[in-house]
Amino acid sequence: MTGSVIIAGLGPGDDSLVTQEVRDALAEATDIVGYIPYVKRVEPREGLTLHASDNRVEVDRATHALEMAAEGKRVVVVSSGDPGVFAMASAVFEALEAGKPEWLEIDIKVLPGITAMLAAAAQIGAPLGHDFAAINLSDNLKPWSLIETRLRAAGEAGFAMAFYNPRSKSRPHQFARALEILLEACGGDTLISFARDVTKPGQQITTVPLREATPEMADMRTVVIVGNSDTRAIGRYVYTPRFAPGHAPSHASEGSTE
Ligand code: SAH
Repeated sequence: MTGSVIIAGLGPGDDSLVTQEVRDALAEATDIVGYIPYVKRVEPREGLTLHASDNRVEVDRATHALEMAAEGKRVVVVSSGDPGVFAMASAVFEALEAGKPEWLEIDIKVLPGITAMLAAAAQIGAPLGHDFAAINLSDNLKPWSLIETRLRAAGEAGFAMAFYNPRSKSRPHQFARALEILLEACGGDTLISFARDVTKPGQQITTVPLREATPEMADMRTVVIVGNSDTRAIGRYVYTPRFAPGHAPSHASEGSTE
């Protein structure tokens, strides 16, 4: 009998943000696979085996999930946020492509979750209200030079941006370099928000103009959001208008930075 693999997003942290279909999948699972802190978020129960693994072994983990499903298990692979955003969904399909042809018979489903940038944006106001780009700043799976190229291109094209994995202890200088590039591409008035531990106890959100941003404001528990040239603060909220930078309709032009 062939089992199933469900790749489920647990959301940014708060339990109320786990969707009902993810709760149902966890309740019916025989096996949970994932990175240690995410597996810890799943309530142990009889009949459920937890397989927690260290970071950076995503494809091994995904292969293990497919092997267990091929034996008839109902496997749930857990990710934080959304599993399709810099997470396990692609890793499972990479393992499927490299794996046994009969694994194509396995029932595989991806269940979405609220990704960090959207949870953060909602706390901040609406900084991603116009076109935006999501960029993973980790050079684990791509060269740093490509990250620099994409940052500059997105900034010069007027995209707002969200950065995942912004600054780790093993590469502290790269985020400093990213800020330099952003300053050149977007200008010092552009608003940048640092959202740490979003929806978790101790959540911290700070917004400053780019010229005041320092590398220490970010770590691996932070998602960073950079606005476009029209992103503005109104009271304690930050939002990006729905129109392109410099294209305010006449009724909305007041306060435009045009
Ligand atoms: N799949 C996840 C992202 C995994 S990459 C998602 O959709 O959210 C891990 C990065 O996500 C972290 O380095 C951080 O930049 C961001 N992140 C995840 N949860 C977060 C949270 N609660 N608060 C702030 N950033 C978070």
